Amino acid sequence: MGASRGSLRRMQDPNCIFCKIVAGDIPSQKVHEDGEVLAFRDIRPLAPVHVLIVPKKHVATLYDAAPADEKVLGRMLALAPAIAKAQGAIDGFRTIINTGRVGNQEVQHLHIHVIGGSEPLGPMLPRKAS
Ligand code: AMP
Ligand code: ZN
Repeated sequence: MGASRGSLRRMQDPNCIFCKIVAGDIPSQKVHEDGEVLAFRDIRPLAPVHVLIVPKKHVATLYDAAPADEKVLGRMLALAPAIAKAQGAIDGFRTIINTGRVGNQEVQHLHIHVIGGSEPLGPMLPRKAS
């Protein structure tokens, strides 16, 4: 079930850029929207397909996800392949969730990156020289 506009506002952080995108206060290139989830193109794409899937509710990081958020987290992950395919990533893609300082998370609103294109993306992380 989706949240009404008023109840959504109460679940958002007024200082959060992705909450502002969810509220429509900052424009985005939406590729999917339902009651609980929004997906939009990353503004600085790392590959031909680069979409961010976010819960409409403000959850800062994966650390902050509560048991009550399991359903929306599952939905976000389950949407990833259809979104990837619809954007043209028909032969594979990568999902990434960056968390906290060590994860290099830039935007403090939980999001799944869906990244792909026609060419392999390369290794997940560069290996440090030993
Ligand atoms: P992360 O480092 O995992 O927090 O990733 C944050 C992502 O959000 C980066 O890839 C940014 O390019 C992207 N981003 C930041 N601002 C916007 C925006 N206004 N619209 C779309 N993507 C954004
Ligand atoms: Zn937020």
